[in-house]
Amino acid sequence: MKNIAASLDALRQRIRAAERRYGRQPESVRLLAVSKTRGTEEVRTAAGHGQTDFGENYVREAVAKIDECGGQSLIWHFIGPIQSNKTRQIAEHFDWVHSLDRERIAGRLDAARPAEKGPLNVCLQVNTSGEASKSGAPPEAVHDLAETVAGLPNLRLRGLMTLPAPATDLEEQRRPFRQLRRLLEELQARGYDLDTLSMGTTGDMEAAIAEGATIVRIGTALFGVRRKE
Ligand SMILES: *Cc1c(COP(=O)(O)O)cnc(C)c1O
Repeated sequence: MKNIAASLDALRQRIRAAERRYGRQPESVRLLAVSKTRGTEEVRTAAGHGQTDFGENYVREAVAKIDECGGQSLIWHFIGPIQSNKTRQIAEHFDWVHSLDRERIAGRLDAARPAEKGPLNVCLQVNTSGEASKSGAPPEAVHDLAETVAGLPNLRLRGLMTLPAPATDLEEQRRPFRQLRRLLEELQARGYDLDTLSMGTTGDMEAAIAEGATIVRIGTALFGVRRKE
């Protein structure tokens, strides 16, 4: 197991350094710890060092972990592909969903959200890589999807998310993130009250912060290389 406390400190420094380098407000970027395939102990260790937000991709694995960590007031984000037969469990157990990309799934999440939990925070996932990726709504579908989600009482539209095809060159990495930021700005100009750009992983978080990320989703740099998925 990686030394999670040391990795967390290093990551926080990396985020603060990128905020300074790209003229972002201090502490304007939030770290989402991606804990898919990781055990409850690793989540607890990170939580013990001040990490509050955790991201999961697989519903069954996540629900067990969330139950085991009950009472720790952690914030759970669903970031994986959403199967329609899993919408109830997602709506009941999570605080955020980053990967909403279809109207039908939006309706199902809204219908299944327990009233006492308050609205589910939602980011629309956008496919900024064209043919290279299957997940996410095409950019031209985002306005209609936003309108649908904004009309659902048990969902709260917070912003946009993307997971671009990997690239090594900083300029190439920045391009899809810039596209996502511009889409967010378009929606804001149409009157949507949005505050979230969920973008950037271990390999491209500096590029994402340069383009305005407010949440970076980090697994490998925190917990080490995943053995299985
Ligand atoms: C796994 C995953 C991450 C984390 O990626 P790392 O390269 O391990 O930091 C971020 N976002 C999504 C949607 C993921 O599935």
